[in-house]
Amino acid sequence: MPLTPRELASSSETSAGGDAQTAPSAPARSLTCAEAARRLWDYVDARLPETPLADVEAHLAICATCAGHVAFARVMRRALAETSVVTAPDERHTALRARVLTAMNETRR
Ligand SMILES: [Zn+2]
Repeated sequence: MPLTPRELASSSETSAGGDAQTAPSAPARSLTCAEAARRLWDYVDARLPETPLADVEAHLAICATCAGHVAFARVMRRALAETSVVTAPDERHTALRARVLTAMNETRR
């Protein structure tokens, strides 16, 4: 057999089709969501070397869940950058956190 179906598929893909809803070809190896999540912050901070960067981008292209996480992480990173001063929790803050923790424990039965 000269060509496997997979080779046929990848060769037809180079001819830039617009409506290709076929299985995404993975130029790099495909990550699991857990692996992508582990690289998420480095990705958002643009600290990834080329290869893992390509892996993450390939995963984000096919995974709406992780793409959503990245969008969230970007917003959060920006918010953190704006609030550069982290104040020590005051009494109200501590009390509020205790109430939230209590509420969470109650709902988790
Ligand atoms: Zn994912």
